[in-house]
Amino acid sequence: MEGRAGLVTGAASGIGRACALRFGEEGAGVLVADLESARAAGEETAAMIRAAGGDAEFAACDVALAADGEALVARVVQRWGRIDYAHNNAGIGVHAPLAETSDEDFDRVVAVNLRGTFLGMKHQIRAMLANDPPARGAIVNTSSNAGLRGVHMLGAYAATKHGILGLTKNAAIEYADDGIRVNAVCPGAIMTPLMSELPPDRQAEILSPQAMSRPGDPAEVAAAVVWLCSDQASFVTGVAMPVDAASVAG
Ligand code: NAD
Repeated sequence: MEGRAGLVTGAASGIGRACALRFGEEGAGVLVADLESARAAGEETAAMIRAAGGDAEFAACDVALAADGEALVARVVQRWGRIDYAHNNAGIGVHAPLAETSDEDFDRVVAVNLRGTFLGMKHQIRAMLANDPPARGAIVNTSSNAGLRGVHMLGAYAATKHGILGLTKNAAIEYADDGIRVNAVCPGAIMTPLMSELPPDRQAEILSPQAMSRPGDPAEVAAAVVWLCSDQASFVTGVAMPVDAASVAG
């Protein structure tokens, strides 16, 4: 990823932070994007990348806002001259049976997870089309194993994660011959604040479909994300890659 530049959303924490660190280690410029309320942790992610010899800065955003999706891309282009990769990773969950999910919670999960991914992709693709062919850019979206099957108490979340796969597959076929690859990762139970803040019985329930009884480490997702963005994955587009210790294999 030497000489490349791009962005990771939700990079103040968990999977996004691990991916930002890995992009930085691999020599890419990284715009570390997260909510203003996560500024301190986001600045810390950027500082960790710089301390390891990489190149990064923090940008506050709310991915649910159209203006922010465009502004993030503009900032990468302004700082590094082009955008080569993007990882649309910011996401939230609501844990409730479908009939007890409030309309407000449903709308917020859709706004952040699905609309946020759409808005990001739209502006990232437009900017990547300005790059020289043949390989103009690569996008990875964070779906979930809940994008591949139902997960008890995660109906609204699962709907958005299935939707992210629809956006991914469609963009992959629409922009394949323009040299833009679009893929998704579908993590299983990964030990991040999103998981660790759940009650132990709920964590155990989420972990139970996995063949490995341990949760994944965010760095194990980052390895897949950075590979999908690299030239090593040059003939890989439109995939929904499980990183989930076989929770959807059986
Ligand atoms: P996390 O809570 O540790 O990190 C999520 C980050 O996204 C936070 O820093 C948060 O501030 C940021 N964020 C939330 N809303 C935002 C918004 N509107 N705009 C910008 N940033 C926003 O969670 P995580 O576990 O690292 O999750 C990252 C992604 O991975 C999510 O999309 C999640 O659905 C997905 N995922 C996580 C797991 C898991 O087990 N942890 C499994 C499958 C998928």
